[in-house]
Amino acid sequence: MPARTRTAVIGGGMAGSAAARKLVRAGRDVVVLEAADGLGGRARSWHRPEIDPDVGINLMYVSFYKLMTELIEEYGLRDDLIKISSNVYISDHGAPRALSSDSPLSLLTYGHVPLRDRLRFLATTLRQVRRKGELDLFDPVKSAPFDDGYSAADWGYRQVSRRGFDFLLRPQIEGFWNFACEEVSAVHARALLAWMGGSGFYVLRNGMEIIAERNTEGAEVRLSHEVTDVRTDGDGVRITAVRDGGAQVTDTFDEVVVATPATIAAKLVAALPERAVTPGTRAFLESQRYEPALSVSYLVDADALPSEAHIVAGGPGDPPLRNMITYPRTVRDERGRSVEKLLVFTYPGRANTRRLLGLTPEQQFAEVTPLLKSLWPTFPTASAEPFQIAERPYGFPIPAPGRYLRSVEVIREQRAPVVFAGDYFNSPTTEAALLSGYRAAETLTNAR
Ligand SMILES: Cc1cc2nc3c(=O)[nH]c(=O)nc-3n(C[C@H](O)[C@H](O)[C@H](O)COP(=O)(O)OP(=O)(O)OC[C@H]3O[C@@H](n4cnc5c(N)ncnc54)[C@H](O)[C@@H]3O)c2cc1C
Repeated sequence: MPARTRTAVIGGGMAGSAAARKLVRAGRDVVVLEAADGLGGRARSWHRPEIDPDVGINLMYVSFYKLMTELIEEYGLRDDLIKISSNVYISDHGAPRALSSDSPLSLLTYGHVPLRDRLRFLATTLRQVRRKGELDLFDPVKSAPFDDGYSAADWGYRQVSRRGFDFLLRPQIEGFWNFACEEVSAVHARALLAWMGGSGFYVLRNGMEIIAERNTEGAEVRLSHEVTDVRTDGDGVRITAVRDGGAQVTDTFDEVVVATPATIAAKLVAALPERAVTPGTRAFLESQRYEPALSVSYLVDADALPSEAHIVAGGPGDPPLRNMITYPRTVRDERGRSVEKLLVFTYPGRANTRRLLGLTPEQQFAEVTPLLKSLWPTFPTASAEPFQIAERPYGFPIPAPGRYLRSVEVIREQRAPVVFAGDYFNSPTTEAALLSGYRAAETLTNAR
């Protein structure tokens, strides 16, 4: 019997785990090498026993995520879904007003922009909804024809007035991804409008990493293995990793899916020849830029803010604090009694995030706490309990104007034995990461 093809997957986030799933099903002998001590990558939650549910950062699954919906069904996770509200409060210099993405009535009562602009926004949204089939938020192969070099801001300012764009669409993009609308392709804004309305928002009860864990069933998962070098030679692909504790391990595979953030991928394959990584792919990897994310969370009294609210800074520019998300949690007090609280995640704006990354948690809380009232004027800063920090240096890959077009070229250039996967091909969402992982696996399985 011929030996099974050995495939390495570097990175066990959504993209890598999706690739592993497809490859295992295609009969490959798959090894996932993951630098962290758990799977899930940026979709991995933190857990703390003092709160119930014990999950911290918990990514949203939106009902129009087709691939993830299939996985949730197959893995029997439907009962683990918790519906959350789609309520957004957009703040103008500390004055928040509610706007729900699935309620035209809410749009009619939203007071930050004149009625004329709200109606134009509604008409613009409906025009995008009519092109839903082509304006795919996750698949550049479909949406690239719309990537005409314009940014979301260029495009948006042509649809509604400046104020209309800055207080209707900009906060809904920057509030989720923190990158500037001036820096991202118009496709991103148009696809979001086409798909957002009427969608259901959910979190998975125990965190989204469960999807990555289930995806890798049947593969050998090596956690705490940070890959440092990838080489190709006559025998295949030689991969070196450093294990927790410092020991170096080298293993040889027939093929590899590199599913780390693009900047890391570019470094890992730096020594590979042009026949393994084309100049176009290499330039694409090297040119990706990321907006980092810093999540700073607090516990506050349950009635201090609305629950399940997404509070976002409106307006152009880079606010000191970008957004807040509130979730209910039960906490045990010092006498063992259950107390209802709100867990509030907050994310600083771009400049503050860059400045605060890498500081100690004490310094980060000390800098962020005075900013809380800039989004919610009655935020109880004196009684808020600093709770947890999470840093994501590679937070959100920026889908710059023209990137979807280049991405399609690079997808077509992918070839065995070295292929790439990650949300930077598509859009910074878990669904897009899954799609890129499936695609990378298909490139390998179609080649042999
Ligand atoms: C704060 C924040 C909130 C978000 N919220 C949402 C949301 O609500 N809904 C949503 O759909 N999306 C959300 N996203 C986007 C989503 O998290 C990402 O698009 C997606 O998880 C990216 O998956 P990936 O597999 O491409 O990359 P990653 O998740 O980054 O996976 C890459 C993996 O490679 C590993 N790795 C890196 N270097 C090495 C190495 N040298 N050797 C071995 N392993 C390595 C990493 O540890 C990681 O596990 C959010 C992102 C952030 C930052």
